[in-house]
Amino acid sequence: MTRSVTPAFFHEEQLEFKPRYEWAFGEKITHPETTARAESILAALQREADRFDVRAPSSLPLSALRSLHSIQLLTLYSTAEELPEDRDFHPTVFPKLKRGKGDPTNLHHAGAYCFDSGTPLNHYTLRAACWSAACARDAARHVRGGQSRLAYALSRPPGHHAEKDMFGGYCYFNNAAVAARELKRAGRVAIVDVDFHHGNGTQAIFYRDPKVLTVSIHGDPRDYFPFYAGYNTETGSADGEGYNFNLILGTGADGQAYDQTLETHVLPALRVFDPEYLVVAAGLDAYERDPIGHFALTTEDFFRVGERLGSLKLPTVAVQEGGYYTPHLGRNAVALLRGLRAGLGLES
Ligand SMILES: [Zn+2]
Repeated sequence: MTRSVTPAFFHEEQLEFKPRYEWAFGEKITHPETTARAESILAALQREADRFDVRAPSSLPLSALRSLHSIQLLTLYSTAEELPEDRDFHPTVFPKLKRGKGDPTNLHHAGAYCFDSGTPLNHYTLRAACWSAACARDAARHVRGGQSRLAYALSRPPGHHAEKDMFGGYCYFNNAAVAARELKRAGRVAIVDVDFHHGNGTQAIFYRDPKVLTVSIHGDPRDYFPFYAGYNTETGSADGEGYNFNLILGTGADGQAYDQTLETHVLPALRVFDPEYLVVAAGLDAYERDPIGHFALTTEDFFRVGERLGSLKLPTVAVQEGGYYTPHLGRNAVALLRGLRAGLGLES
């Protein structure tokens, strides 16, 4: 029997974006969102060529993102393309009353569209972020068109912190939201975000939308980024009330605790919502050795997380989010994807 092959979307221009440093809690540190992350995942996918087929997405015109992100945010990224190639621009002034209301042709106003000091802009930001979103769009189209039950977007830079008119948390365009929007044309969509950090951008984009269920499992936002969102009192609003779940696990939570949360809270909520499609915001910084995440999942645990979610038997798009222990990132991505394949019955 021929084994089903999972398409994995990636474009080499995503590697041209190389943020150099960030300001983390007042310290200048080497930026963790490196090209080595994508290279680690690519190498691991290519080692399993009988399961994964890496292919380039078709290009995504900027205008296609206008229904998801504000014109000001898109203009700001275009402005950053004028920077010299060797320079990163870090917003340093964040106006309280001008959120989303600066002059996006002036980089000194970038703080009006940004919520942290860890997410620089440079000449390559827009191009890489567009390809990253294109991966998510094409993976979703592939699944929506019925060409496969599972598709993977190697989206880098990541996306789940990006809101309609704000960037931050190393994210510029919300790739999981791009995938969900694409799938929503054909039915209800559930997004399960397994990144260590709360997916504040995804939550904000769909907060009033009853056709997209957003579930995020993450570290306590009182202690961990993004700090201002991710609490379990945030349940959606207007027609979207009751369609957003935030599940907080304690520092050091292991695979067993994670599994219990999936079994007790996530899977029942998904069964009640009864979606046509699933998007997995596939952050891997819940890993035990991750320098930014503070859970204790192992590579085997990622397989089980994938298997649990795959057992829902929904056409699924996995979109890469965080994960910063580069030496093991590839094998953890493959473990999660192989778990999804196993749950979906694609491994035999
Ligand atoms: Zn994260």
